[in-house]
Amino acid sequence: NDIIKKLLISGGGLVNLNTELDFERAEEIALEYDRIVELEETVDVIEELLKDEDEEDTKDLVTRPPVVCVMGHVDHGKTSLLDAIRSARVTAGEAGGITQHIGAYTVQTESGTITFLDTPGHEAFTSMRMRGAQSTDIAILVVAADDGVMPQTIEAINHAKAAGVEIIVAINKIDKESANIERVKQELTEYELIPEDWGGTTIFCPVSAHSKEGIDDLLDMISLTAEVLELKANPKRKARGIVIEAELDKGRGPVATVLVQKGTLHVGDAIAVGSAHGKVRAMIDDKGKRVKTAGPSTPVEILGLSEVPFAGEVCMAMDNEKEARSTAEKFIAYGREKMLSETKSQLSLDDLFDQ
Ligand code: GDP
Ligand code: MG
Repeated sequence: NDIIKKLLISGGGLVNLNTELDFERAEEIALEYDRIVELEETVDVIEELLKDEDEEDTKDLVTRPPVVCVMGHVDHGKTSLLDAIRSARVTAGEAGGITQHIGAYTVQTESGTITFLDTPGHEAFTSMRMRGAQSTDIAILVVAADDGVMPQTIEAINHAKAAGVEIIVAINKIDKESANIERVKQELTEYELIPEDWGGTTIFCPVSAHSKEGIDDLLDMISLTAEVLELKANPKRKARGIVIEAELDKGRGPVATVLVQKGTLHVGDAIAVGSAHGKVRAMIDDKGKRVKTAGPSTPVEILGLSEVPFAGEVCMAMDNEKEARSTAEKFIAYGREKMLSETKSQLSLDDLFDQ
């Protein structure tokens, strides 16, 4: 009663025995009574599950395609570059497939497959980092050759570095008369991105999203970098992935684009995705084709979830539907809202990523 009175007097509004106080407030009050309160860490159910499963039998690991995102200052050509890559690599037979947009796409090059994230991926990026489940292997830092390093270029560098993502610099718009490649290289040395021909280790690719010059070189460099990174995954285990984007479709219900990171996802698999659960009813790839399975580094649209999950949420295949449902219920119990509000307040990356 004392505390309730105090809170009322101090302008805390109407409170009762069941009112939840934030930690700082509780701490203040406790101090008035010469008590010290400690914050009890809540255990994240998903984190626990991920911890359990991270032991991987090395003999089952096989090379997987790199997952690449495009970052950089607004108007430096992120969208144009992603479009140029996509259209340059679409074979005649797939031509109809380009209209399909699922937030990620894969391209085939002579040196292998590459998966591009093609989404306003900041939410995914941040909450994935919170989960320690990184989605991106390589970040393409787009810098316009006529504009040079700008504020969001620097932000992008910082985020990529913090995430431990390999950076490849794409100097874009080299078709422009005012392009100055050397100046961009010079400016980036300040951020420890030093080209190989200057004694550094960063790959620089001069490109033009308009004329398509340098695009093939960029793709080669991505594949080369991926090779060095020795990216591996076990396709035999139960699937785990990350939601890139999700929406409620009028006809199809909740639709989520999932990037499979480990294992293979099958039609018919029971899955838990945050507070959503279900059974994969159908999967559609980035070319709009129905598929029955999706292996590591493959983006697919999945149908069959109980609700629309959030971007950045972990998607896990479970042994059966009952288990999937109970995982989702546990997730809800552990306070999804709290976790997401923490995630959202972390950073605002809207302009760094392509949108
Ligand atoms: P984003 O904001 O980074 O996604 O940039 P956009 O892809 O939307 O491009 C911004 C502007 O730059 C658009 O007007 C594009 O047409 C233009 N642009 C993009 N790439 C090139 C290029 O290689 N050469 C030239 N000349 N213009 C480009
Ligand atoms: Mg854009």
